[in-house]
Amino acid sequence: MDKDIAIKLTKLSDIQEVDIHLSDIIKLRGTLPDEVDALQQDIEKLCVKMQETKDLLATLQGDIISKKELIKTTEKKVQRYETQQMDVRNNREYDAITKELELSKLDIQLAEKFLRTAYDKIEKEQIYLEEISRFLKTKESDLVLKKQDLETILEASKAEEDALYKKREEVKNALGEALYVAYERIRSNVPNNLAVVSVKKGACSGCCIVIPPQQKLVVHERNKIVFCEHCGRMLIAPEDAVDASSYLR
Ligand SMILES: [Zn+2]
Repeated sequence: MDKDIAIKLTKLSDIQEVDIHLSDIIKLRGTLPDEVDALQQDIEKLCVKMQETKDLLATLQGDIISKKELIKTTEKKVQRYETQQMDVRNNREYDAITKELELSKLDIQLAEKFLRTAYDKIEKEQIYLEEISRFLKTKESDLVLKKQDLETILEASKAEEDALYKKREEVKNALGEALYVAYERIRSNVPNNLAVVSVKKGACSGCCIVIPPQQKLVVHERNKIVFCEHCGRMLIAPEDAVDASSYLR
């Protein structure tokens, strides 16, 4: 038995035990963190929509002011043309003024049509804005409640979590960079996130595939770190293992 290897094997088992506890704590939070995130995103989107609607309303109000101005000045033009029409010297002048008059009247009609459409649109957008505002208030109060719930849960597990992270850091340092990186890589690649498994009844308890007797012997001798040829997990002798079999899913 290589003493250093034996210690590292125990540390591997330790870090996995810490990670299992941490993931249990995270599971207890259930979907709350995701719900809080989703609410925050919904609120952001609603705020954007609200601002867009307010901008649109401001543009419409601006357009209404300029169209009203246009109507006023065009009405003055119409009056002027009507007066001029009385004093024409010939048919050509009369026709020219009549044409200008018609065009100006058409401009007024178009501007009035624009105003009617704009007022309709403003009414609809204001209703929409009120809806968004109501929706936003509901989401905001939901968020306050969910955040409170989440904070209560986080607060309850904080001490335990802090202790686990502290222990994890110690074990990580004891493992050394290379072994820790290997542990993390395997953990993220296997379905149950267990990177360290024991040999039970001659099989890897991660994938249940029987391992060659020679390899089983090496695992028991603790002279080197052995990886399961099938699933790639690190293999330890049962006596080194914190029983993680209950976590196998
Ligand atoms: Zn395996």
